[in-house]
Amino acid sequence: MNVSSVVKSQNKIYKILKSEKMNNRLSHAYLFYGDKGTGKKEMAYALACMLYCENGGCLECDTCKSILAGNHMNVNYFSILENKTMILKEQIMDLQEEYSKTSLVEGSRIYIVDGIDTATSAAQNSLLKFIEDPENKTETIGVFIATELSNVVNTIQSRCNLCHFGAIPKLDLKDIIMESGISDIDARLLSLLTNDSEEAVEMYNDPAFIDVKDAFINFISVKNKTDMVKYYLANVDLFSNGENIRRLLCWVIEFLLEANLYKKDNDNLILLPLCDKIEEYIKIVKNDVRSRVLDIITLADKLKSNVTPKNVFFELTLKFI
Ligand SMILES: [Zn+2]
Repeated sequence: MNVSSVVKSQNKIYKILKSEKMNNRLSHAYLFYGDKGTGKKEMAYALACMLYCENGGCLECDTCKSILAGNHMNVNYFSILENKTMILKEQIMDLQEEYSKTSLVEGSRIYIVDGIDTATSAAQNSLLKFIEDPENKTETIGVFIATELSNVVNTIQSRCNLCHFGAIPKLDLKDIIMESGISDIDARLLSLLTNDSEEAVEMYNDPAFIDVKDAFINFISVKNKTDMVKYYLANVDLFSNGENIRRLLCWVIEFLLEANLYKKDNDNLILLPLCDKIEEYIKIVKNDVRSRVLDIITLADKLKSNVTPKNVFFELTLKFI
């Protein structure tokens, strides 16, 4: 879990929670919703740290460390069990049973239900009374985590404080991916393929990633049509695969978008380490970058509508230079 990175990249939400805590106005139930990889679970743990840490949730002290390691008695995390696809009714019963007992440790308690949107409506509804009024009366905070808000019953939604988690900005995501020991350029390229740092690491571990990355760098280095024909012949097998061509197109489109708006000293470029390639490309195609962006975005749509990867790759090599 990259809790400190999420605190930084979802800082708006963190600040709201922090001010609610400081003003003693924390809600008794939160519903964190948003796409996979947007830091909902990490934020739930950051909130737990705020409750018990003497420094307001530093993430560094022994208390914070024990929370983050899942060892704090008053922090309970429930998620979908291995080999299951949903939160089970029994887990929700267990949660209520657990909270009907008095905790061994004093102070407020927090439970996190990761995947509430996967539980059946009946299971979700069985929580209603509990959310309003946990039996043992200790201050209790519930955090429900969902990717699909529409799958959370209205009766739960209306009892919770809703927090929407938007996608983490790509450059922040790049930093999170780099924490797994992945290089700067690889992390930048991965951040373009997914919004989820865990999925990015899985993609990185697939040998195809390096092959496609090397082929992308070679592609943007081609300087004339003759060399492009040679490039096509050398790489046609690699890009007869749908996932490989999808990744190449995604990076080429970003390359063209950044070339189209290129200004020197723009540190916010995702493809910053490749800016010498962008400059060379602009010199070759001159004012024609914009029409190429549009052509290649159209090409990416064709891939979705069943044109074969090989044909899409062929057209890409015709249109790029
Ligand atoms: Zn702390």
